[in-house]
Amino acid sequence: MAERVRTATAGAAESHVGRVRSNNQDSGYAGTALFVVADGMGGHAGGDVASSIAVRRIAETDGIDFADPQEAEFALQAAMIAANREIGRAVAEHSELTGMGTTVSAMVRVGDVVATAHIGDSRIYLQRGGELSQITNDHTFVQRLVETGRITPEEAAVHPRRSVLMRVLGDIDQSPEIDTSVIATLPGDRWVLCSDGLSSYVPEEEIHAVLDAAATAQDASAGLVAAALEHGAPDNVTAIVVDIDRPGSAPQGVRLVGAAAAGLELDEAVPGRQHARLPALLLHPIRTATPEARFQPDSEDYLDALIREDRRRVWRRRVVWLAVIALLVAAVSVAAGIGYRYTQGQYYVGFDGDRVAIYQGVQGTIGPIRLSHVVQDTEVQRSDLSPFSAGQIADGIPAATLEDAERTVANAGGTGGG
Ligand code: CA
Repeated sequence: MAERVRTATAGAAESHVGRVRSNNQDSGYAGTALFVVADGMGGHAGGDVASSIAVRRIAETDGIDFADPQEAEFALQAAMIAANREIGRAVAEHSELTGMGTTVSAMVRVGDVVATAHIGDSRIYLQRGGELSQITNDHTFVQRLVETGRITPEEAAVHPRRSVLMRVLGDIDQSPEIDTSVIATLPGDRWVLCSDGLSSYVPEEEIHAVLDAAATAQDASAGLVAAALEHGAPDNVTAIVVDIDRPGSAPQGVRLVGAAAAGLELDEAVPGRQHARLPALLLHPIRTATPEARFQPDSEDYLDALIREDRRRVWRRRVVWLAVIALLVAAVSVAAGIGYRYTQGQYYVGFDGDRVAIYQGVQGTIGPIRLSHVVQDTEVQRSDLSPFSAGQIADGIPAATLEDAERTVANAGGTGGG
């Protein structure tokens, strides 16, 4: 019994259509050792078919007794390529499904190792020892821009084209490039598989906090979907949480969620079923289509266009800043001009060396700029003045006009002379 608890793989899956979309194109599977998330895309029908085909096909590998993790890695990859072919066949038979595709992120536990296979921008995270790490790489254009140093990860997270994909399973590519990995897993590890409906809208710190607060895989997957809904859930959202040998988190049995659970599948094994299913697919309103193609097969051209668009955005930002700076400089110049003109309408009587002089402007300086200059030297010497007048003149005696200043000089000289 103790032995069984120690090797428990407890998985839970949760999927929600979100607050904006009218159908769920995500599919998820939480099995005994295998876990899969798929985010479908397509026209007004198809995304749900694609993700459903992929998840159901890959789920067939659950329960296989793999000899080693490499065998599991290969089996996942083979199942994804088979799903790709199946999607292609479905499109060949139903032209209205043209352009459908799906992301897939899958993992299978083999003893103390996990094998993963991944294509698209769904994600696998590992929470271990207080740290949450993203295991998969997004196959998106913005990720490519980040990797080539054109934008920062922070810019990528809010980029308007952040959901445009470079690689998916679909009817476009006969041999899609699938990432695989084999990673050791430890007791207490918590794995998360999710669609971008979670990762694009809930910050990683919050995902981390939700996982920390949840005792079981069920609580964790439900908590993540709830967090996405709190953030408005503009997209379908799917979260699968897998606990490795965590006390209190017990296996709950196999669970299918999202489109795969709704039975949207063109199953060749059941003749006639596809005809029964198709009308339901066609009922999806047009507006559920992603406004812009989420998958761009012509990758280099699109990347170029994206880079140009980024440059334009940077340029627009720069132009706005330049305009703001120019306005500020103009405002400061005007203010300074008005101020200087004001100072130059003023006079004061002060000393120019030992001689009394009339200055135009005001006493003092702004940085290196003196705000006054001598306009008239006089014959009155410091020694001609009473100590009181000399003190006043040393401080500067303001005058409204040149004539006022001349009178002040005459009075001061007269006082000293008399
Ligand atoms: Ca999505």
